[in-house]
Amino acid sequence: MPVLDTFLQQKLMLLESAKRRRVLHMNERADGVVVVRGGKRLISFACNDYLGLSSHPKLVGSATEALTKYGAGAGASRLITGNFPLYEELETLLAGVKACEAACVFGSGYLANIGIIPALVGAGDLIISDKLSHACMLDGARLSGASVMRFAHNNVEHLRMLLEANRKEYQNCLIMTETVFSMDGDLAPLKVLAALAKEFDAWLMTDDAHGLGIMKNNPADIQMGTLSKAVGSYGGYVCGSQTLIDYIKNSARSLIYSTALPPATIAASIAALRIIKEEPERVAKPLENARVFTSLLGLEPATSAIVPVIIKDNNKTLQAAALLEEKGFLVGAIRPPTVPENTARLRIAFSALHEQIHIEQLAEMIKQEGWA
Ligand SMILES: *Cc1c(COP(=O)(O)O)cnc(C)c1O
Repeated sequence: MPVLDTFLQQKLMLLESAKRRRVLHMNERADGVVVVRGGKRLISFACNDYLGLSSHPKLVGSATEALTKYGAGAGASRLITGNFPLYEELETLLAGVKACEAACVFGSGYLANIGIIPALVGAGDLIISDKLSHACMLDGARLSGASVMRFAHNNVEHLRMLLEANRKEYQNCLIMTETVFSMDGDLAPLKVLAALAKEFDAWLMTDDAHGLGIMKNNPADIQMGTLSKAVGSYGGYVCGSQTLIDYIKNSARSLIYSTALPPATIAASIAALRIIKEEPERVAKPLENARVFTSLLGLEPATSAIVPVIIKDNNKTLQAAALLEEKGFLVGAIRPPTVPENTARLRIAFSALHEQIHIEQLAEMIKQEGWA
């Protein structure tokens, strides 16, 4: 065996023995909440397509039209010739939905985070991040060259301690958090975080990948998010002041040195944002569905479309997900390093398209097995 493969085989075996090896399953997403895996139709509680928009006829129709009109690819970075007219329409809509002055669209949420953060801070600056912030925020922080500290999850006293002890040693300071935490479904205390940022002359940045329709009146200076989840399309963005956006467009390397999104993708995002503006009942539905579930199980009322059922052990979590799959339900089995050690969990994500009966059946199975 070539030396590289021998080395990698050992690494894979280690992952396997810790039940941490990941495999990619072939999925076919049918309409709405149905996923076909291995020929079997499953009701998915694993997708982030919270509003059921990815297969919506208006998105598909707009994308098809843009594909015919503009072609399959953008052909260059937005700074060269990739900035076709649909971008402006999308950014205006986004800024409106987020109640910010301006927006800038990136290739993905991941690309947005690794572009925005190094554009704003660098060596001699300080980043203080919630400990559970998404991996790509941490990657952006590392790329920036700033010093990185993490505060205990949603613990504003700990954040204050870190600010008191360290803020004055650094030039600029960026506080980072998710609005709705992707693996726990709980909410960041944004008002307190914004007040602390103000008190310590720091900037607040939020990642709203899972917060669309949940987190309103966001006070953060820098509001990042994705078009790939509730919006049902693909891409990332940042919203904020016109000055922030002008600066980001001049300095975020993942924007400047990467090709613009395909026109069809932008058209789909535009169609989705229009639906989001026009159909508040659809936007409210995932949280309502999550609350039906938590109430059936006697859990604390859900605060977002995400409800974790913590099993702790990696293997047991995999077995639980496999059992649910046998019964026709697809649920994410989330293990370290995505979540902290000994907190492996079923991550249950609710969609506007779930029916009451799906939610009741899932809750019943979880109750019977004694997982919650
Ligand atoms: C999914 C996710 C991202 C990445 O967004 P993509 O558009 O999928 O690249 C960033 N932050 C959080 C919190 C996420 O859950």
